[in-house]
Amino acid sequence: MDERCVCQEIQGYFLDRAFDRLKLKGPRRDLLLSSFRETQITVPVTLRHNGENVLHTFQGYRVQHNHARGPFKGGLRFHPDVNLGETRALAQLMTWKTALVDIPFGGAKGGIAVAPEQLNDTEREELTKRFCQKMAPIIGVHDDIPAPDIGTNPQVMAWILDEYSKSHGFRTGVVTGKPVELGGSAGRLEATGDGVAHLAHKVARQLSLDPAQSRVAIQGFGNVGSHAAIAMVNLGFRIVALSDVHGGVFAEQGIPIDRALAHVRETGSLSGLDGTSPITNAELLELPCEILIPAALEGTITSGNAADVRVGIIVEAANMPVTHEADQQLQQRGVVIVPDLLANAGGVLASYYEWVQNLQQFPWERETVLRRLEERLSLTCDTVQELAREREIDMRTAAYELAISRVDHAIQLRGF
Ligand code: GLU
Repeated sequence: MDERCVCQEIQGYFLDRAFDRLKLKGPRRDLLLSSFRETQITVPVTLRHNGENVLHTFQGYRVQHNHARGPFKGGLRFHPDVNLGETRALAQLMTWKTALVDIPFGGAKGGIAVAPEQLNDTEREELTKRFCQKMAPIIGVHDDIPAPDIGTNPQVMAWILDEYSKSHGFRTGVVTGKPVELGGSAGRLEATGDGVAHLAHKVARQLSLDPAQSRVAIQGFGNVGSHAAIAMVNLGFRIVALSDVHGGVFAEQGIPIDRALAHVRETGSLSGLDGTSPITNAELLELPCEILIPAALEGTITSGNAADVRVGIIVEAANMPVTHEADQQLQQRGVVIVPDLLANAGGVLASYYEWVQNLQQFPWERETVLRRLEERLSLTCDTVQELAREREIDMRTAAYELAISRVDHAIQLRGF
């Protein structure tokens, strides 16, 4: 089954443009675009329904796109919309992302089509471990290293580590994004959001924006969105709007993030947060702001709403939040877009640091992790912007061209 999905549409266009400009065609292009291996896994789990045991089967996937530059690397997503097409597109994006920030990994992605919040902890553990049993032959410290993504977290990584270790011995480096007590890295949890905020700050300064005068709207309040919000506030920005799957909240004078976090912990959503007025997710995207951070799912800014997006900077914390038609419209209007493969690369960068710490069995301080992360992201941003200026293209095209060239070069060197 190969369901077309919004990710494939979005990435397909950006990739075609970059490949054409790089004059990469024929088998060389095919090799760069095709998956190394695509694994589909049926996961049976017995769930309790109205006091009865009912057998369910879930579809799981692991797509290993390319490992020319190092072991496959990428997250595991638990979400009802997970399918092979989406996983394939996201696996490719990981290849370009790891190449762009120049870490010795390739790209992969996996997931299970499931609504994890509808299972209890025991059922989630069972599902994860059964999935891992079937995935075990293709993952490994030097083969393929999963990490969290939407719907998964350090606990899920701990279950994978446990299951994998039953047959392979204790191998902390087989997953990243683990709990710190099991070899996870200090700073990994906040790394993606922290990197997003760091790049937003860098680009805002380039445009002479004063953080205190800059209004920020963040769509998505999961791990990435919430940590981006915390880091943005620490950098002096004013968050005027936040949203989660249930809807959003707005306050012109700024939303206190600690209160928002406490409210979500207590009530399960942002709705009803004191001192804010309700807005919809669609309204959040159309607020007049200096910076917009889409941190939810793919394809949220489309040709249907791009004309109403009134910001100067978009930092793509989510993977593929802007469709290619919307991208064109926004670029024409001079909106600066920090593309996903750069903007949210802090996650996989911290994963790399975690893996290095696991190999060395030598943990680093949180400050060391975040300092190295910010330095590497900043340097990568400089390189991308320089290339964009030189070739008179936007940052996304420059990032893709740089990443694709590095992977192509590694393939040529290795000769396969
Ligand atoms: N899921 C994250 C991403 O899309 C992190 C992947 C990783 O750390 O391997 O970049």
